[in-house]
Amino acid sequence: MEFTRVEDILKGKVSGSVSVRGWLHHKRTMGGVHFFLVRDGTGIIQTTWKKENVGEEVMEKVEKLPVESVIMVKGDVKEDKRAPGGYEIVVKSYDVISKAEEDYPIARKYHGPDFLLDHRHLYIRNEKMWAMLKVRAKMLEAAREWFKENGFTEFHAPIFTAAACEGGSTLFPVKYFGKTVYLTQSWQLYGEAAIASVGKAYTIAPSFRAEKSRTRRHLTEYWHLEVEEPFCDLKGTMKTQEELITHICHTLAEEVPDLLKMFGREPEYLLSIKPPFPKITYDEAIQLLKKDGVDIKWGDDLTWVTEKRLTMKFKVPFFVTHYPKSAKAFYHKPDPKRPEVVLCADMLAPDGYGEIIGGGERISDVETLIKRIKEEGLKVEDYKWYIDLRRWGTVPHAGFGLGVERFIMWVLKLDHIRDAIAFPRTINRVYP
Ligand code: ATP
Ligand code: MG
Repeated sequence: MEFTRVEDILKGKVSGSVSVRGWLHHKRTMGGVHFFLVRDGTGIIQTTWKKENVGEEVMEKVEKLPVESVIMVKGDVKEDKRAPGGYEIVVKSYDVISKAEEDYPIARKYHGPDFLLDHRHLYIRNEKMWAMLKVRAKMLEAAREWFKENGFTEFHAPIFTAAACEGGSTLFPVKYFGKTVYLTQSWQLYGEAAIASVGKAYTIAPSFRAEKSRTRRHLTEYWHLEVEEPFCDLKGTMKTQEELITHICHTLAEEVPDLLKMFGREPEYLLSIKPPFPKITYDEAIQLLKKDGVDIKWGDDLTWVTEKRLTMKFKVPFFVTHYPKSAKAFYHKPDPKRPEVVLCADMLAPDGYGEIIGGGERISDVETLIKRIKEEGLKVEDYKWYIDLRRWGTVPHAGFGLGVERFIMWVLKLDHIRDAIAFPRTINRVYP
């Protein structure tokens, strides 16, 4: 049997008689008519049940059907401004595919955040969670589309690794046949190996960070979209980032405007984003903050709080470039004109959201790299293969890492990063 997708009905693509199957999302009865919302994964639609169409017996039976039961309904599509989404199905017949138990734990009433996180396996059926998951999927679809159009190859790196990429303090150790290995913090080092084989490369994969600070924008497991390009410098990678972010923003605005509006995000705003993005140096950022009376000195990394202050001054995503060497990982290329800073760029989202991308140009010669590894107190042996990349066929290269949840948080104006992923992993949550 053919079933119609709710999405197609809500888009006005289908008329006449349809069969739809899905979960009984919400029940309401008014003036002897049942208005039951049905959810099929593509959308939510009102189904309208009247005695004259289905008979008294069916009206009584379905009234008792618990929410989240799975049903099949057959009926006629009708445009109706009063129905959510503007369409309804006037039911003629139905079938129960699976009857749910009574007392659905997430019935429509107020629940605290912990209760909802404990019932996340059910809460992802909530309208806003559904909308976020669709926007997230669309974001990644748009990114892959852009990579394909621009000649990038998807490349996968291991999750088990032997050495740190972003610093030892946030490593997750794993027992590995009598040895200790670590969950990857970033694909980058492998991405740098990839470019000499496949050219411009990217990945979309989980990264793990044992973040001890409890903030609203750190997960311990997050999805990381990373890019590495050969024959590319700081300017080049910023251009790639601007174009990619613009393509994603425009695709979301054009293809899922209604989902954005559910979160108070105007599609027009996302359409207004285009290259070039504003760029300031770290020095300028420090000056701006000092002028604001913030207690900060040259050399300090931008913290969550200071970054937030800075982002309030911008209306669109912007770059902060040329951070002090001490604030960044060992592989960043020092600026030849000013070796105390590195050729890096972070992209910060406006309105208090802060860093969504970290990236820059990498060190491409052997001596500088070994010197920096030693300066940071790391073991040269641990990075032998990574150093090798500079021995055979080294080229200027640059890349970046975009936090998928950080991006979604900004686009959907979310207060907490955990609401940008289905099953968040944080310092005190690994269930469900
Ligand atoms: P922050 O200073 O905000 O902790 P970072 O400098 O550690 O970020 P990078 O190492 O540059 O971040 O990682 C690249 C990107 O990955 C960041 O710009 C951010 O979008 C994302 N990211 C980093 N750590 C986390 C985390 N714990 N949870 C979610 N996303 C993260
Ligand atoms: Mg960090």
